[in-house]
Amino acid sequence: MQDVRKEEIILSGTILSGEEFEPLEGYLCIKKGIIIEMGRGRIEADLEGIICPRLVNAHVHVGDSIFKDPPFAPLKELVGPGGMKHQALVRATGEDLVEGMRMTFLDMVATGTGTFADFREGGTDGVDMLLEALGTIPLRSRILGRPDPGSVQVHDECWGIGISSTRDYPRSWAEDAVAAARSNGKKVAVHAGEAGRGDIEDALALEPDLLVHMTKASTQDLREVADAGIPVVVCPRSNLFTGVGPPEVTEMLGLGIMVGLGTDNVMLSSPDLFSEMNFALRTLVHNDRQVFNMCTLNGARILGIDKRIGSIDVGKEGCVMVIDGRSNNMWGSKDPLASVVRRARPSDLLAIF
Ligand SMILES: [Zn+2]
Repeated sequence: MQDVRKEEIILSGTILSGEEFEPLEGYLCIKKGIIIEMGRGRIEADLEGIICPRLVNAHVHVGDSIFKDPPFAPLKELVGPGGMKHQALVRATGEDLVEGMRMTFLDMVATGTGTFADFREGGTDGVDMLLEALGTIPLRSRILGRPDPGSVQVHDECWGIGISSTRDYPRSWAEDAVAAARSNGKKVAVHAGEAGRGDIEDALALEPDLLVHMTKASTQDLREVADAGIPVVVCPRSNLFTGVGPPEVTEMLGLGIMVGLGTDNVMLSSPDLFSEMNFALRTLVHNDRQVFNMCTLNGARILGIDKRIGSIDVGKEGCVMVIDGRSNNMWGSKDPLASVVRRARPSDLLAIF
């Protein structure tokens, strides 16, 4: 796969265009990173294929990239305080942690991701390590940091704070950390309703900008989330691994909740959104457009960057990828959107821009 950074690029083929991802047989011109022209009809181009927006991973923990494929165990034993993840992180050197994250970022690029939101543990040092690992790798980050012990402040580079579950902290600390984040113009994201619904009420009381998981939410909980206009990011592969069960995405969508897709802990699942899309389509919602939207435009909306990325429109950034419509896997496709969601894999990627 090529990582192309030319000043002016012309792409031709089937464009999943606009906010509805309508297939358009046409061309795209990207100049200095911005889409300056899109039109019907094929023209001579630098590259041909199925042209899609690069994907948005709205929830990931890259910090545990050092620790792959733990045994199946309850959520608490895997990622809870003092659990397997915690022990692995304590054993690892700083150098190895950074290298693990760097490899994950390279894998994200190779699997079509353009933007990710990370729940970064480890306070200020943890954010510095992530930034060191990211270096010049072509990904946009939204870091949701964790304050240092004894503090409520997060690193300046953080987009917001990420609270693992309100049950993991004294109530007063969570309120103070949220107040500090708000006063610094930062966002608030909370894991809620993952293993049980006992932390949902407290999470909602913090008036978060986004919730993660909500696998155990009741219909009434979801109604409250919908009324408050809070988006939810779901991570179905992670939820099935940890045994908490799938989130009720059809119900969320029916209530008008904006839903994004994330791959969650790297120790549990690869950060490959093609796998997550494929899985979400089969287990959560039989709707190609909805699933593609969850990891493109909705992800961008949830992360506040939909004016720039998430769909292919003139004036937006040329943050796109080209999929080989003639690969062994994709050949014969008559519905490019369905084929991208249901069967495309990273090996079908020709290039990212
Ligand atoms: Zn998570």
